[in-house]
Amino acid sequence: MTRQVVSRWYLDKFSLIQTLQHLSQLHPQIIPIAIGCDLNIKTFMAFKQLDIIEPILKAVAAEGYTIPTPIQQKAIPLVLQRRDLLGCAQTGTGKTAAFAIPILQLLHEQKPMAPGIKVLILTPTRELAIQINESFAAYGKHTGIRHTVIFGGVSQLHQTNALKRGTDVLIATPGRLLDLMTQGYIRLDKLQIFVLDEADRMLDMGFIHDVKKVIAKLPAKRQTLFFSATMPPEIQKLADVLLTHPAKVEVTPPSSTVDKIEQRLYFVGKMEKPELLLHLLGNKEIKTALVFTRTKHGADKVVKLLQRHHIRAAAIHGNKSQNARQGALTDFKNGTLRVLVATDIAARGIDIDELAHVINFDLPNVPETYVHRIGRTGRAGNEGMAISFCSREERDELKDIQKLIGKTIPVVHEHPFTANAMVAAPVAPARQQQQARPARNPNGQSRQGNNNFRNRRSTQRAR
Ligand code: AMP
Repeated sequence: MTRQVVSRWYLDKFSLIQTLQHLSQLHPQIIPIAIGCDLNIKTFMAFKQLDIIEPILKAVAAEGYTIPTPIQQKAIPLVLQRRDLLGCAQTGTGKTAAFAIPILQLLHEQKPMAPGIKVLILTPTRELAIQINESFAAYGKHTGIRHTVIFGGVSQLHQTNALKRGTDVLIATPGRLLDLMTQGYIRLDKLQIFVLDEADRMLDMGFIHDVKKVIAKLPAKRQTLFFSATMPPEIQKLADVLLTHPAKVEVTPPSSTVDKIEQRLYFVGKMEKPELLLHLLGNKEIKTALVFTRTKHGADKVVKLLQRHHIRAAAIHGNKSQNARQGALTDFKNGTLRVLVATDIAARGIDIDELAHVINFDLPNVPETYVHRIGRTGRAGNEGMAISFCSREERDELKDIQKLIGKTIPVVHEHPFTANAMVAAPVAPARQQQQARPARNPNGQSRQGNNNFRNRRSTQRAR
């Protein structure tokens, strides 16, 4: 039998697992042996070894995965044992399948089932709700388990019709769920499993009160799965109330930034951020970028700016209709749009394969949000680059972010807009301050090149 050595260039277990998976599909005779990283050979485990039933195995294989991600390896057996679970994991780790697969299996084993909602999944955004529903459709396509998604911002008619037809799994955002419960379309007395997804985000978005109202209506006897990327005290308190002897599964330490994401910081005057953005996007190597602004108005302004410069861009935020948001997301995913500008609330849960660049046009004022934002790139084993603009007014935000991630973000000093960027030296809590090379700086532009650029701009202004 061929022995294949998979060696040390892999950055993390997930990339290695994916490559092993790929290799084993191409050459089933290959025995992957991992050296040069801390991968235990037991980690190379097939879904089969998790005792997943055939109809789900078939669907999962059709999705192209055979190797469970670390959170799936840990969580699936625990959920199948009907344990309560406290999962600390960001999106991008395979978290959705970690709960969807065992839930589908538990339901499938109960067939023929009595009518009624048996599983409720509460998630903060419409986009995430839609994605979870799609995952249930994909993994459950041979199980006959019925699932329905409900969220606000669209007419309720479709949703109430689906509820009337009956569903086993309900995926919901909190506002619409409460609304339809009040109208009498939803009863949760048959509920067996409750999943609270992205609990920290519920808190950030001001949904925690609604979440507590929903929880008050759940049957006391149930299995609860609680997922959160970070564990601020209020979320820990909620977990303590909700869970009974939970198993804890943690795949990335809370608030640790994914190591394979390169981070860069540009100090820049507030008024010059638009020009810096255009300058960076002048680099054609940036094929797509997700740009974060703090406000909806800010997002719209950036889109107008980019469109004026013939860069295909659209915004997604809470003021956009559900259809507009979905349309923009689809156009971004299929490459029709080069830039998607988002506010934090709208962007949460966006799952885009191969997103190489995240640009923080504004720094977030909640430091954990920085981790969530940059986690949009470098997903599923890909490399990523997170670029942040920091103006004089954002020094405190930067300080908090660097304290949270425990490192100093490398600064790019060579760019044309440093003049108004007089910012105090950033805090360097752990590691030495580094001088970073520019983020994929257009055509390897030198300082001389930058000066030329500046001169060009001042000439343009003078005209
Ligand atoms: P999630 O963390 O649930 O948002 O998943 C992130 C991405 O990983 C999604 O695009 C999934 O389709 C993908 N994914 C989930 N589980 C696996 C797996 N075992 N192997 C390969 N890809 C996976």
